[in-house]
Amino acid sequence: MAMTLHSLSSLFRRPNPNSSKTSKTATSIHSSAPPSPHMENTQSKKRVAVCGGGIIGVCTAYFLAKKGAAVTLIEKSSVACAASGKAGGFLALDWCDDEAISSLARASFNLHRSLSDELNGPENYGYRPLTTLSLTVTESQTTSTSTNAGSSSILPSWVDGPIKSPRTIGSPETTAQVHPKLFTKTLLNKAVNDYGVEVVIGKVERVGVEVEGGKVDSVVLEGGRVNESDSVVLALGPWSGKFEMLSSIFRVYGLKAHSIVVEPKEGASITPHALFLSYFPARGGKALYPECILVQLLFVTLAIGEVYVCGMSSEQEVPDNPEEISGDPDSIQVLKRVARTVSSHLGEGEAQVKAEQACFLPCTDDSIPIIGEIPGAKGCYVATGHSCWGILNGPATGAALAELLIDGHASIVDLSRFSPTRFVRRRKV
Ligand SMILES: Cc1cc2nc3c(=O)[nH]c(=O)nc-3n(C[C@H](O)[C@H](O)[C@H](O)COP(=O)(O)OP(=O)(O)OC[C@H]3O[C@@H](n4cnc5c(N)ncnc54)[C@H](O)[C@@H]3O)c2cc1C
Repeated sequence: MAMTLHSLSSLFRRPNPNSSKTSKTATSIHSSAPPSPHMENTQSKKRVAVCGGGIIGVCTAYFLAKKGAAVTLIEKSSVACAASGKAGGFLALDWCDDEAISSLARASFNLHRSLSDELNGPENYGYRPLTTLSLTVTESQTTSTSTNAGSSSILPSWVDGPIKSPRTIGSPETTAQVHPKLFTKTLLNKAVNDYGVEVVIGKVERVGVEVEGGKVDSVVLEGGRVNESDSVVLALGPWSGKFEMLSSIFRVYGLKAHSIVVEPKEGASITPHALFLSYFPARGGKALYPECILVQLLFVTLAIGEVYVCGMSSEQEVPDNPEEISGDPDSIQVLKRVARTVSSHLGEGEAQVKAEQACFLPCTDDSIPIIGEIPGAKGCYVATGHSCWGILNGPATGAALAELLIDGHASIVDLSRFSPTRFVRRRKV
């Protein structure tokens, strides 16, 4: 199988060490909910349509509604159906310190902590601090041989494969994890129940802009439904590249990555660890891919006694329908093989594979997220391009955008570095 392999875990840079009319295609799933006190005086509130029900859209809807906006979240398929429901949920405080997203990441890591206190994260979405290790695994030709069981005190007991050079690269103070789908859904429930966010299932086709003044006034959904809005936020993840209003200014492309979720019989023995692996396939044995001598992968344990293994990524066309995204069988086989090599508890007969899946990282040409008002479309904002750090950076992205829309400037994070105007400037140059 010819494919360009990207190492997903190498993307994670490690530390040095409203709605009016309805149509057949657009259905409000919360229209029968009784109005909450927060829905009073909606006519005097700023009406914001947030398009896209991934973590970025949901966080933005939550913080906007908390700041008093009348928010409608519009999602074409189902909430967290894409990367925001299939990611690893790994969070790190300081791993992006040398990068443009440094302040975003630090603010977001801390927001995750306070949101966990507010939403009972440990119970509702598996929030927990982690110890994070980097490991080298050299697959032996007889993969059943366990060479390092118990050989290093920093290795968790369930990791009994041919491990070399284990090193601690993150502590419970600096690394953590959330179950991404449960986090996104818990936050949305809070936004709906406490702050009156309305959720509409429908595909956003275009943003309506006033002829005079160039200010947005609505979003138009497939089937013709018009949602009148004072402001619009486009949080379409990798589908941003298919939305003409955005693709005419910058490129957002999708990097397809695979993951499996494995539940060992002895789930309770799975400790709160994340493992970043450099994996060398056996020489002379069946290669993972003909051209591949090293695969980098992320293992992260989920609080509910499961282990999530991801890797095997390549740039591919993003299908229009998120529900049609499935894993390539060869890549899934590789992940299973790696899982059983690393831990005998994750092999066939010892564990059940609960999910075999794939999803798309939303990537930009300069590897920096795009967050801010769209040039030439007053009142229309974009938030996308979070690549492998969208679960980490969702809360601060949402909180900063809410400040920008309601207060006129963002104080939690300086958003100027992320502005889409950078692409317009570059084009002029
Ligand atoms: C395998 C894998 C592992 C990852 N692990 C981690 C991790 O451990 N930590 C971390 O921080 N990040 C991780 N990420 C990255 C993270 O998952 C993404 O950055 C993040 O989920 C992007 O969120 P989003 O809301 O921008 O996009 P998405 O989750 O893709 O959501 C976009 C939503 O927009 C909807 N939509 C699209 N077009 C329309 C339209 N026209 N109208 C209405 N709705 C529309 C889609 O249906 C979708 O629900 C991982 C990603 C992958 C692929």
